[in-house]
Amino acid sequence: MQLKESDEDGFGIEIVLQQGDRKAPSCVHGPTLLFEKVCKGEEKGRRFYACSACRDRKECNFFQWEDDKVSEARLLAREEENRSKMPPFTHQEYCSRFRKFLALPLGRRFCQDCQLLLLPGEWEIHASHKMSQADDITEARLSRPSLMLKPLENKKSNAQYLFADRSCHFLLDTLAKLGYRKVLCVGTPRLHELIRLRNQEGKSDPMKSLLLDIDFRYAQFYGTDEFCHYNMFNHHFFGGEAASGVLRAFLGEEDGEKVIMVSDPPFGGLVKPLAHSFSQISETWRKLQTSEGGVVEMPIVWIFPYFFEPRILECFPSFTMLDYQVDYDNHPLYKHGKTGRKQSPVRLFTNLTPRDVVLPREEGYRFCKVCARYVWSGNKHCTKCNLCPSKDGRVWKHCSECQKCVKPSWRHCQSCARCALPDHPCGNSPGLEGCFNCGSLKHKRRACPLKDKRRTDNKSKAMNSKRTSGAQRRANKLKKTTE
Ligand code: SAH
Ligand code: ZN
Ligand code: ZN
Ligand code: ZN
Ligand code: ZN
Repeated sequence: MQLKESDEDGFGIEIVLQQGDRKAPSCVHGPTLLFEKVCKGEEKGRRFYACSACRDRKECNFFQWEDDKVSEARLLAREEENRSKMPPFTHQEYCSRFRKFLALPLGRRFCQDCQLLLLPGEWEIHASHKMSQADDITEARLSRPSLMLKPLENKKSNAQYLFADRSCHFLLDTLAKLGYRKVLCVGTPRLHELIRLRNQEGKSDPMKSLLLDIDFRYAQFYGTDEFCHYNMFNHHFFGGEAASGVLRAFLGEEDGEKVIMVSDPPFGGLVKPLAHSFSQISETWRKLQTSEGGVVEMPIVWIFPYFFEPRILECFPSFTMLDYQVDYDNHPLYKHGKTGRKQSPVRLFTNLTPRDVVLPREEGYRFCKVCARYVWSGNKHCTKCNLCPSKDGRVWKHCSECQKCVKPSWRHCQSCARCALPDHPCGNSPGLEGCFNCGSLKHKRRACPLKDKRRTDNKSKAMNSKRTSGAQRRANKLKKTTE
């Protein structure tokens, strides 16, 4: 069975987060996730395990029905296969290779095809590959691995989008100003790199940084206390106990420094498993707190597109979405060029106090006294809603019938009794928007109070089981422009 990207986490396929006892089988990316295929009119969908990290079955094709009996022989074969797909070197080995590499008297070579710093004994086997030569591989270059390594470009959801300098500096300056001296970088290699560069400059208080990322190429450049090969969709440390110990040591309070976590997960990623991993990190942090009556939540900045706001707030009700638009270097649409920038849809979701995160005036942000937070200049405060309503950076307008502000492109539709795009499929909205389980327009199936009851409603039977949630659909279409 093939899992299409659009199926997951939508109405057709849902994630079942399991508590404790049952152990999920593992693919090379660690424990798999349990999904449920919900079919029209059926009481209970069929459940199966699939890879937590890869949305593309071409990258990881692990599949197992929940009730499959797997033979001992099959299990052994699977373990063998998982081992064969692990990185060619352990992190320790990468570290000792790096030391040898730095000490090389004659020339340094980096194989661009294999994305590997080569030792002289290996030049031969890489002879026909594309190679960077000695003068290219200066100390300066080696301290910027995110420029040296080719961003991963997996077609589906796992492409690497690196922060533009100004967004990365904004993040780092903000954290530094707020007094954080330890940053847990989860899927933010460029921020990790910038922190180290800043320390090297020696002009400001040094900050510690630990990078957790699934891209093990970074193990070539960073020590075992600076980088852990980690999967943020199942909180899996590829380096086992030793690696999770590195996280605990980092989060501990002994050094007396405040810690914050910053994560920029792949946008096609699944919100629930991410939130689950972040909660586990937060829980690890909480258990290490010794001082009484301090902060109760680990400070987190989760970087994600604005249209995921409802999903993220469902998982983390204490979070606020800030107006800051995060820019990327290599995103086809959202880098800002000479022609002026396309507005990025990517925002910061955080449990920091919003007014403490000062957004740069020179980039068009202002402080709203009523909302007590910095907002984008186009986000005009609405006195009727009593808030700054815009989510996407455009000027929203108030609809007196809906009694709320809506996107500028929407019109109030009398037959639907709500605002919508002028060319919306009119009158169909129950089928398009309602709950797959009970047909209610007030919620989606995910939040249905009758979720575990039998699905007998005619409306739900008539609905398409391959529906995808709005946020997911838009994430899939990130390359196209916003509506
Ligand atoms: N803007 C960030 C990069 C974000 S791209 C920066 O400039 O630093 C997403 C990052 O998450 C990449 O570094 C990618 O390798 C990492 N990533 C993707 N899937 C992951 C997973 N399952 N677990 C951990 N990290 C992952
Ligand atoms: Zn996998
Ligand atoms: Zn309003
Ligand atoms: Zn309206
Ligand atoms: Zn209508």
